Amino acid sequence: MASAATAAAAPEPLTDPLTKYPKPPFKRQSQAWPGLASEMDPRPDHGETSYRGSNRLAGRKALITGGDSGMGRAAAIAFAREGADVAINYLPAEEPDAREVIALIKSAGRIGLALPGDLRDEAFCRKLVADAVQGLGGLDILVSNAARQQTHASILDISTEQFDWTMKTNIYAPFWIIKAALPHLQPGSAIVGTASEQAYDPSPDLYDYAQTKAATMNYVKSLAKQLAPKGIRVNAVAPGPIWTPLQVSGGATQEKLEKFGATAPMGRPGQPAELGSLYVQLAAADASYATGQVYGSAGGGGQP
Ligand code: NAD
Ligand code: MG
Repeated sequence: MASAATAAAAPEPLTDPLTKYPKPPFKRQSQAWPGLASEMDPRPDHGETSYRGSNRLAGRKALITGGDSGMGRAAAIAFAREGADVAINYLPAEEPDAREVIALIKSAGRIGLALPGDLRDEAFCRKLVADAVQGLGGLDILVSNAARQQTHASILDISTEQFDWTMKTNIYAPFWIIKAALPHLQPGSAIVGTASEQAYDPSPDLYDYAQTKAATMNYVKSLAKQLAPKGIRVNAVAPGPIWTPLQVSGGATQEKLEKFGATAPMGRPGQPAELGSLYVQLAAADASYATGQVYGSAGGGGQP
């Protein structure tokens, strides 16, 4: 007889990861930055119909930057279905994507807080954390996931303004947000960053972006050591090529988009839904010994 601990849902058939999701060739497509998931073809899967929770984050209060689309949206859906209240930050232009996410969080029975604004502004970053703490009644999970990625064939094509934009979004904003969040984080809290395979194996056309992902990997490891004595864990997820708006709004060339994911051993890009559970795992209390770790998901390529 099945006990409460072993009573499981009906068995599911094995799914082959090779045929589970779309493969290249993809249609050429381009959107104005920052792009919308709802206008991509095919539409990315963030776990909207598939993610099933089991109370792994019951009662937690999470803030996710870039929570409207991509990995942030997959994490937001998963967190809510695991029992967490979730605040998401995004840019005002992403309101249509954000509305879908807030509706999904609420339909999981949790608080869903929409906090739009530009992370390149230090004062906004401080206000974002303050508003999340107030709206959620505290904070114990911070997912620093938002990023700027633009392809440039040559370093000569990157203006100081563009370079600064990338650095402000990908390096300064996490610094500002973590500083603002820290006084609120009690022992048991978790910070999760989004690094990349680019941290270890940079592409020639992502000179500025790739170095920010190396910085992300590095700050996660330094902060993990600094905050371990406080009982706060700091980890990162390192995606490979994932089908998100970032790629179709200047992050990749049309040639690369057409073949997106083709060089991964699985021969296809990942979908954000395939990474949602990694954010859950790193945030969950049962991962209490994991800190300073980078968990990859890259279809057979990538590092770590
Ligand atoms: P995405 O476009 O869905 O998410 C990026 C988000 O960053 C946007 O939704 C936007 O809300 C936010 N953002 C960017 N600039 C901002 C600003 N100035 N202020 C506020 N928000 C801002 O794309 P994604 O691929 O899911 O990206 C999420 C994370 O995944 C990023 O850290 C990215 O570097 C990382 N990543 C993506 C891939 C990939 O192939 N898609 C691979 C490795 C790592
Ligand atoms: Mg978006």
